[in-house]
Amino acid sequence: MTSMSTNKPMPMPTAISAPFWDGLKEGRLTIPHCKSCGHWIFFPRRHCDKCWSQDLEWKEVKGAGTLYTYTLTRVPTLPDFADEMPQKLAVVELDEGVRINTTLVGMDESEIKVGMRVKPVFDTAHSDGTVLLRFTAADNDFPAHIDSTPAALAAASAAQADAAAAAVSKRQVRFDDEAAMKALVSDTYSDWSNQIVVDQELINEFAQLSGDDYWIHTDPERARAQSPFGGTIAHGALVQVLQSRLRVALDFEVVGFNNMVNYGSDRLRFPAPVPAGSRIHARTRVKAVEKLPKGMQMTLEIVTHVVGNERPSVINDLVILYM
Ligand SMILES: [Zn+2]
Repeated sequence: MTSMSTNKPMPMPTAISAPFWDGLKEGRLTIPHCKSCGHWIFFPRRHCDKCWSQDLEWKEVKGAGTLYTYTLTRVPTLPDFADEMPQKLAVVELDEGVRINTTLVGMDESEIKVGMRVKPVFDTAHSDGTVLLRFTAADNDFPAHIDSTPAALAAASAAQADAAAAAVSKRQVRFDDEAAMKALVSDTYSDWSNQIVVDQELINEFAQLSGDDYWIHTDPERARAQSPFGGTIAHGALVQVLQSRLRVALDFEVVGFNNMVNYGSDRLRFPAPVPAGSRIHARTRVKAVEKLPKGMQMTLEIVTHVVGNERPSVINDLVILYM
């Protein structure tokens, strides 16, 4: 069993609401319906909110409706939603008359209009199979079922990164061409790498390997109760070494050297935590090039971020000597 976690809050079905969530898992939208007066009811409850009858049944509906209202968040509603910005929070009125709080997907801001027709999208949002109900424009060519688990999003990013890397034409720069090497120095970062998920399983493996099994990394229950981060976080050193799994497409290649030595880091900082279950990605820039008697030294700044977070989780000024 994988122990993927994410700090995004997930629904906690109750005895009354469970049929709604179970239906979503099966790709069906079901709504309580009053057998006495024919009224549709949402949110799910024990009685009809029109005639007070408790004689209710769950019925499947198509999910066709109109956008009643919406808002775009400029600040994430929780830090964990930073990878969904702007959140397109909406209220949809189904043709049955009930209103549902939801999120719009697959639409640009400019396409969203109050009163527009919408259709449901079943979004697998958690590795435990939890499905959330989203909506998109009725005329949108968009899948009815999507997978936004961190693992699925990371896999999609890998395909994108591979395509971007294949499209880059690399210029070759001789290591001993001081002017050309110094011309690589830039304030601008590369494109983002592929993404990977830092899940609890990976953190546990690193805890075992390193011997650092402090509870803030390894005890999700205690961390939920006592950690300032609301859950477990990855070791900074783990996130640092995961840079090897993040492929950054550079538009140059240093050539002509006999030997390349990794001298370690000039600067290593862990400014922001990586909560268990987060996706991370990295980008890089050449920070400095210096000609030394031994060869040409390049300082590569590699920054790793939780996807959506403006603050880096790792800043690593990696020093490489080409000889
Ligand atoms: Zn009723």
